[in-house]
Amino acid sequence: MSVVGAVVDESTKLSAVVGARSAGPLAKARDLHTVGDLLEFWPRRYLEHTSDLSNLHVGMYVVVVAEVKSATTRRMQKRRGEMLNVTITDGRDEVDLTFFKSWGHKDALVPGVTALFAGEVGMYRGRWQLTHPAYQVLEGGLGPHGADRGPIPVYLQVKGMQNWSVAECVRIVLDHLEGDSVPEPLPATLRSRHGLPGRLDALKGIHVPRDFAQVQRARHRLRYEEAFVFQSLLAQRRARQAEERTQARRPREGGLLAAFDARLPFELTAGQRAVGETLAHEMSRDVPMHRLLQGEVGSGKTVIALRAMLAAVDAGGQAALLAPTEVLAVQHHRSITAMLGDLAEGGMLGGSEIGTRVALLTGSQPTQARRQNLLDAASGDAGIVIGTHALIQEHVQFQDLALVVVDEQHRFGVEQRDALRGKGNQPPHVLVMTATPIPRTVTMTVFGDMETSTLTELPKGRSPIATHVVPADRPAWVQRTWERIAEEVRSGRQAYVVCPRIGDDGPPSAGSADDEELAAPEPGEGDEAAPREMASVYAVEALLRENPALEGLTIAVLHGRLAPEDKDAVMAAFTRGEVDVLVSTTVIEVGVDVPNATVMVVMDAERFGVSQLHQLRGRVGRGRHAGLCLLMTASEAETARERLDAVAGTTDGFELARLDLELRGTGDVLSARQSGGGRSSRGMGRGSFRFLSLVRDEDVILQARDDATALVAADPDLAEHPDLRAAVRSWVDEEQAAFLERG
Ligand code: ADP
Ligand code: MG
Repeated sequence: MSVVGAVVDESTKLSAVVGARSAGPLAKARDLHTVGDLLEFWPRRYLEHTSDLSNLHVGMYVVVVAEVKSATTRRMQKRRGEMLNVTITDGRDEVDLTFFKSWGHKDALVPGVTALFAGEVGMYRGRWQLTHPAYQVLEGGLGPHGADRGPIPVYLQVKGMQNWSVAECVRIVLDHLEGDSVPEPLPATLRSRHGLPGRLDALKGIHVPRDFAQVQRARHRLRYEEAFVFQSLLAQRRARQAEERTQARRPREGGLLAAFDARLPFELTAGQRAVGETLAHEMSRDVPMHRLLQGEVGSGKTVIALRAMLAAVDAGGQAALLAPTEVLAVQHHRSITAMLGDLAEGGMLGGSEIGTRVALLTGSQPTQARRQNLLDAASGDAGIVIGTHALIQEHVQFQDLALVVVDEQHRFGVEQRDALRGKGNQPPHVLVMTATPIPRTVTMTVFGDMETSTLTELPKGRSPIATHVVPADRPAWVQRTWERIAEEVRSGRQAYVVCPRIGDDGPPSAGSADDEELAAPEPGEGDEAAPREMASVYAVEALLRENPALEGLTIAVLHGRLAPEDKDAVMAAFTRGEVDVLVSTTVIEVGVDVPNATVMVVMDAERFGVSQLHQLRGRVGRGRHAGLCLLMTASEAETARERLDAVAGTTDGFELARLDLELRGTGDVLSARQSGGGRSSRGMGRGSFRFLSLVRDEDVILQARDDATALVAADPDLAEHPDLRAAVRSWVDEEQAAFLERG
């Protein structure tokens, strides 16, 4: 059944090693075709042998290899059918097995058969008993490995095969491999420095461990390997970027930036000034800038970006500002033109001599306006071009693109950045601003090829946001919430009410509402016996209109299904203060800046992520007036309350981001790599971390980063490390494939 004599390596077809009968189901059910595929079919968990049947106690979970001593069937008195009683022995002690349906078991469990049994121990009439245990018959008795085998790997179910046979296939494959037929991406020096097993040993430790200590060592090695391969990729990118050349954009005396600074209505914070200097310095070099700016909500990132853009224009180039949503692009355009005043009227009657133009590109604008804006971008008349990512990436030609600013984006993968950088005659300088503070481990991976700046300080005079949890099942509290809104409005302020759904009464779909509506909870999740309808924008709007406390208030709705021009109109009216209460989805989550809004109520708050709530409440308390955020929830689940209390308890976004990462895992964090599961039924492709945790493995990541940086410095093309180079390559391929698939 196997290839004897031929060399087996990772590319060998499984059928040649384990035979067609096993290879068939492995290919069909799990897309496993080669030796390499099977080796990366990682066990999901392990079962441990309970070595024998002595020292049992009720409730204990045993896994034991034992022999069937006797088996009897009898008709049941109260029910139809036949019951099977089996007694098994490990040679010394005995346990009874009870099956209330004998069918399917009667023929397998006959005296003399040896099997692996697993189940919870009970006691019946003074004898130990397992009811309906899981079992696997061991053909050929205990086999060559005997009863003292190590932990038993448990694989994802392969249709048409027992776990036992899958494990046996992996064992056969491993038996055919020599150390040098498995690629070894880790250099020997690093392995010995950190005491890591070789890759083949690690694979054996994962699939056929002698004990758990070996599993741990193997996992540690694979964790480090993942971190190291990925950090090598990043180190190479950094090295290559350092070699890139572009046009230096040196600041100019008496230009737009100076004029803008002179009329700035507030003083920059120390942090804003420092970051500003860094950006000016990096843009004045002929190496393209790659900088990530992360800052607390409301820390004033926009003004930093604007100053950098003005510097780029002063230096004779253009700048593009990319927003994640149209609402945000429009808002940026509005507030930037307002801040610039006549500086944004370059070439127009009454405009400043040194002025430029600010072009806006959205999908909803009239063709005529759009054409003019595209022309202005192409001719260079517009020094600043603002739009959504997609629009700018796909449609715009620039005269001389000097700087790209990507706003409020924490899922902006390497590929998107590359696509943009292809826009200019030479690579532009790039500034990415993240929507959420992100933990260090994440910056070191997702943004590992960028330098990072952090703004922790909020501008002076900012009033703190108070956050409270409101139980939705207490009518008096809920009514008090609506009264608070009315009070704020009466003293001249405005309010947001955020809902997890749009609802059905709205207009038919015009825009896209993809990201804003939260999925209904999984059945069984949360605490409600019957899943309750989540609050929708339209239902809440109706509720508020009927509430006497809010009589006379102007209420409007905003969500992604509205036609783009309606979205603009609503947002503009809210900004002008003509709308008192804005009932919306999370379309307002990031970036929206209306300093006069002071209260936010979040309906069904437990449905939102911790960082998301932090982002949302960042919409209030942006002006002189104290902000108030009320998190309404009907959930009594402990974890939900814990999360909401955490949000209410701190305004430290980094703290909350860490908590978020712990609660949700890394799933949402990595950009393109998140399509995991789509590519193959193995669960995840190679291009994702299977062992490394961005939550727990900061040490490993730091170490791997240092090691990779040193290695790449000595051997930039990894010429002396072909296995590592191949591993890096396959990661990149996987990432690109995932990116293309998402479109
Ligand atoms: P974010 O970092 O969340 O994007 P913004 O850039 O939207 O924050 O800034 C929030 C608000 O703070 C804006 O209204 C902005 O004009 C104002 N702001 C920015 N910098 C300062 C400052 N140094 N002093 C006072 N207000 C400022
Ligand atoms: Mg912003």
